[in-house]
Amino acid sequence: MLVLDRERLPRLKLCAGWITPEVVKDLGMDLASYPHRLLTFPRLRVHLGRLHIPVPCVQHSIRRFEFDAWLLERSGAAVEQHNVRHIVADGEGYVIDDTYRCRYLIGAGGTRCPVYRELFRELNPRAHELQIVTLEHEIEYDWQDPDCHLWFFEHGLPGYSWYVPKEKGWLNVGVGALAARIKKGGEDIKEHWTRLANRLDGALTRGAHFDPKGFSYYLRGRVDVVRQGNAFITGDAAGLATRDLGEGIGPAIRSGIRAAEAILQGKSYELADVTGLSVTSIGRSMLDRAARARVFPGERLRARGPST
Ligand SMILES: Cc1cc2nc3c(=O)[nH]c(=O)nc-3n(C[C@H](O)[C@H](O)[C@H](O)COP(=O)(O)OP(=O)(O)OC[C@H]3O[C@@H](n4cnc5c(N)ncnc54)[C@H](O)[C@@H]3O)c2cc1C
Repeated sequence: MLVLDRERLPRLKLCAGWITPEVVKDLGMDLASYPHRLLTFPRLRVHLGRLHIPVPCVQHSIRRFEFDAWLLERSGAAVEQHNVRHIVADGEGYVIDDTYRCRYLIGAGGTRCPVYRELFRELNPRAHELQIVTLEHEIEYDWQDPDCHLWFFEHGLPGYSWYVPKEKGWLNVGVGALAARIKKGGEDIKEHWTRLANRLDGALTRGAHFDPKGFSYYLRGRVDVVRQGNAFITGDAAGLATRDLGEGIGPAIRSGIRAAEAILQGKSYELADVTGLSVTSIGRSMLDRAARARVFPGERLRARGPST
């Protein structure tokens, strides 16, 4: 197995690094032996206008460059730094930039994935109304509030802002929203960032200096074709982030597992059980907690399957 990435790994990836219990389960992660920063949130603090709602659940934060490097090492794959440009079908396989040949090709290149661009774009055009724009920064900061905060729809934002502490003095803050709806409202994501930074400076991140960077990706829409011959698309390449919270790590991991199963076990590659809504996961997490706390004694709580 060979991984080609245009960046030198481990690389910076703009991401708040919130992971769900599904991610932990899908990866068979033992949280106690995870060798990098990992913080567990027993609640999310949701802010809706003047309403401040603590939502009990179990969610986690990691730092993406550590998490991705750990995953890569665990996979045992060989890695080469290479910016993929051209892909040509060749018999049952593919030739990449006249340099690499493979029988199976998994497109996991995110929003600008070359496998998507060369082999899938015409079949699954991006749905522009589902494009998310973000601005975020992860800084070393001696945070005092260990909870994850989410502010929804502030000042007409068609999305939300976040404060996500990481273990041992790191912090990620950002804002993300539907690009087309921000534009329609005559605003810019930068204006929403400024409001967030002012809010945080007055309370949670006094004195911190931020220099945010932007990135864009797509929420899950119609994804009609995810396999063509022996080529697959996964994660952001297929546009699989959840419709409600733009959670993309879980869908990227689960779709990657399903693609691997298709190759190794001959199963059909389907995304039916790739999470479409994050609230399903948060709801399940609350049920699990309730079960552990014996809120419903004697009852074994069964989580619903994820909706798509
Ligand atoms: C600001 C922000 C915050 C987010 N926060 C969260 C969060 O807290 N939790 C969550 O679940 N999701 C979050 N997401 C979404 C999540 O980051 C993505 O959905 C997820 O990283 C998708 O993973 P992926 O493997 O498909 O793509 P990526 O993680 O983008 O990886 C794609 C890789 O492909 C490489 N690549 C690209 N083009 C080429 C090329 N031509 N040749 C070779 N290599 C190439 C890139 O260098 C990169 O390493 C956030 C996204 C953003 C932008």
